[in-house]
Amino acid sequence: MANGQLSRAEALACSDCRHACHAMLYSDTKSLLFGKIPIKHIILMQMRFDGLLGFPGGFVNPSKESLEAGLCRELQEELGVALSISEDDHLDARHAPGTASCPRLITHFYAKKLEEEQIKEVEQAAVSTARDHGQEVLGMVRVPLYTTKSGGGLSSFLSHAFIANARTQLIDTLLRLQLLGPEHLHKALRHSLKTHAQGAVDLQAAITLTKAIRDQS
Ligand code: AMP
Ligand code: MN
Repeated sequence: MANGQLSRAEALACSDCRHACHAMLYSDTKSLLFGKIPIKHIILMQMRFDGLLGFPGGFVNPSKESLEAGLCRELQEELGVALSISEDDHLDARHAPGTASCPRLITHFYAKKLEEEQIKEVEQAAVSTARDHGQEVLGMVRVPLYTTKSGGGLSSFLSHAFIANARTQLIDTLLRLQLLGPEHLHKALRHSLKTHAQGAVDLQAAITLTKAIRDQS
C-alpha cells in the first residue's frame, strides 16, 4: 500500500514484528462552546503516564488473540468499558519508529463512532471503574476542533507532545473521516508551529530562571 501504510493482512504477515492497536472513539455533537462556537465532534484522546498525548490501546500479541480482541482488552483496562471493535473499524497499519526493546513495531489504528451519550459514559467510566486510571492513564481529554478568535483551540492542541505517530494518526483520521476540512487543518497546523516556537521561548526562560535559583542555593 502507498505512504508506508500496510493492509491488516500485510501487517499480520510480519512474523518478527510487535503490534500495537489504538482507537479513536468519537461522536457528533450539537453543543456549542460559550453558546456560540460549534464543537461539531467529540474525539477522545488521553494524557498518558509518560506525559504524552495518545489514543487508548496498547500492545497485542496476534499469536495469542486477534488484534481486535487485544484492543478491546486494552480499552477495557484503560477506559473501564466493554466496547466492540471489529475488523471493519481497522483504518490503518504502519511501521512506527522502533526502540531498543522493540525494534520492529507496527501500529494499527481503528476509529469507532459512538453516540454522544456513550462517549460521556466512557469518560465517566475512565475515572471511576478503569483499572489504569491514575497509573498508565492520567486522564481522558477531548480534542478541540474549532479555532477561537485568538487562534487557540485545535492549533494549540496540535502543538503538544504526542506518543509515537499519534499526531499523524489524528490528522489523517480527521481528513479521512471528513471531520475537518483540509484548509482549516492546514491553517491550524501553521499556527501550531508558531505556538510551538513560543513554547520553546517560554521553556528557555524557565531554564534560565531555575538555573539562577539553583546557583543561589
Ligand atoms: P502503549 O501500551 O499504549 O504504550 O502502546 C504500545 C506502544 O505503541 C508505545 O510504546 C508506542 O510506541 C506506541 N503507541 C502508543 N500510543 C500510540 C498511539 N496513540 N499511536 C501510535 N502509537 C502508539
Ligand atoms: Mn496504552
